[in-house]
Amino acid sequence: MPDWQDSASPASPGNTFHRSIPRFTALPHLWIDPNDLAAMIEHAEHSHPEECCGLLVGTMQDDRITAIEVYPMANHWNPETARDFEAAMLTQSDLTQPAATDPPSTERRYIIDPRAMLDVQKLARDRGLAIVGIYHSHPEHLAIPSEYDREFAWADYVYPIVSVRRGHPSEVRAWRLDDDRQFYELELRTELQYCDR
Ligand SMILES: [Zn+2]
Repeated sequence: MPDWQDSASPASPGNTFHRSIPRFTALPHLWIDPNDLAAMIEHAEHSHPEECCGLLVGTMQDDRITAIEVYPMANHWNPETARDFEAAMLTQSDLTQPAATDPPSTERRYIIDPRAMLDVQKLARDRGLAIVGIYHSHPEHLAIPSEYDREFAWADYVYPIVSVRRGHPSEVRAWRLDDDRQFYELELRTELQYCDR
């Protein structure tokens, strides 16, 4: 288990006064600007019943991920892009072919155009930022990653998922891969807090 306690914290009076109680600030979390969170949810709602997808840009320091910009992207999924994408990913990671479950479509799958992703990456780098995550929606499904999400997820990135039920957003949860390529959940924060109980 990672040692959250030893992570460096920004200097603040809160840290000085609360050393004897659990330091919730050190738990792995995703901080996202509230307007960006709203934009992500709105994108999911408008895209329903199809899956939406987009990029989060910000900074990453071990288990503290800060998203300060959201880039809604087009869902580039179609049978052809899916074949190319899966072939490239399987070659890179030497994974076995994931089991087919639901019939794939833009209601069950998303792909971001790699060229569009590079454009965002360049924009971010120019300002000392980086792509820190990819969000997508789950129409009529829980905000829990599917096996497909797990198979094709990249290490380090955070994966927020917006569940949309009957056209209405119902839940947002954020996930990230551990060293065994299993997802663990990140606390989602929109406020700056040094000690929240
Ligand atoms: Zn998914």
